[in-house]
Amino acid sequence: MWTVVSYVLKQRAAGNKRYPLVLMLEPLFRCNLACAGCGKIQYPAHVLKMNLTPEQCFQAVDECGAPMVSIPGGEPLMHPEIDKIVEGLIARKKYIYLCTNALLLKEKLHLFKPSKYLTFSVHVDGEKDHHDFSVCREGGFELAVDGIREAVARGFRVTTNTTLFDGADPKSVRDFFDQMTALGVEGMMLSPGYSYDKAPDQQHFLGRARTRRLFRAILSNRKASWRFNMSPLFLEFLMGKRHYACTPWGMPTYNLFGWQKPCYLLQDGYADTFAELMESTRWENYGTESGNPKCANCMVHSGYEASAVHDQFSSWKGFFATVRGQFAKYPDEAALRMLDEPVKPVHAPAGLVQLEKAQLKVNAKEEEAEVSA
Ligand code: SF4
Repeated sequence: MWTVVSYVLKQRAAGNKRYPLVLMLEPLFRCNLACAGCGKIQYPAHVLKMNLTPEQCFQAVDECGAPMVSIPGGEPLMHPEIDKIVEGLIARKKYIYLCTNALLLKEKLHLFKPSKYLTFSVHVDGEKDHHDFSVCREGGFELAVDGIREAVARGFRVTTNTTLFDGADPKSVRDFFDQMTALGVEGMMLSPGYSYDKAPDQQHFLGRARTRRLFRAILSNRKASWRFNMSPLFLEFLMGKRHYACTPWGMPTYNLFGWQKPCYLLQDGYADTFAELMESTRWENYGTESGNPKCANCMVHSGYEASAVHDQFSSWKGFFATVRGQFAKYPDEAALRMLDEPVKPVHAPAGLVQLEKAQLKVNAKEEEAEVSA
């Protein structure tokens, strides 16, 4: 926290309006899962075989200067030199979130040493059935839980990373928070899924109105035992209590193709250097306010959490709202009632698909009306 605070204050004192908080470093796109909502694993085989070298990773980290580095992918534990990459980043005093589905975590743990700079951010999308369906692999949940147990027992920092899609049952998500808390994870991260047009399952992406409803049901009436390693203001944004514009430069992405424009989710070209990314991207063309249809439904943390962090440090009001948000329970009677509402089945029977499509059209119209309002 102190590292982030001092970094942001330094950037502001230097008059920098656009600065990165977290580098999204994708050293490979290869994965040992094929999740239905993933937009990263559809590349041709020759691309899936490629890896960034540790030197390329260090160059990107040095150019960018962000205090935190998130390593998604693909599955980073499949990178043949992931231990060297992590070692080099720790030597640079970067806080690393190594994002993993944990299928290989137990067998690869010996490559790493516990460090305050290294956190395994384990991808778990909810309770057993929901997670296994989301990652299209039976038994995926047990393997993830096994990996978490082992890493916690060996003294590593472990968090979870949960992406929620339409059909998520808020009650079940809250039970999942209890399970993860009992496992000893130090924090949980949440985000709505982004509707990648390459993802095989296009039916279960959430629109903005449904995202706010779902997160209000999940995050209101909060238990004191739950710990989230996200900005409390970003969680309030997901619950519909705040409005933020996107900050796509807050979490820039470097991968096999270079610096991706403008953000982790979209691919509107690549820059060779971080400086070129910052100078040549037409930032005004992105975010919900821009009218860009690719951004219309996005509430993903890689675009909006940096906006919340900026708000946190822009005024005393933002700062006190953050402190209050750390301890607030967000009592909300209506949200309690939402927990008892029937949930659309995730495994939609074939006969219901037409019905669902018609419902999606109605939902899209409702969201459009809400956005223009
Ligand atoms: S709104 Fe979402 S998709 Fe659009 S630039 Fe921001 S993060 Fe990227």
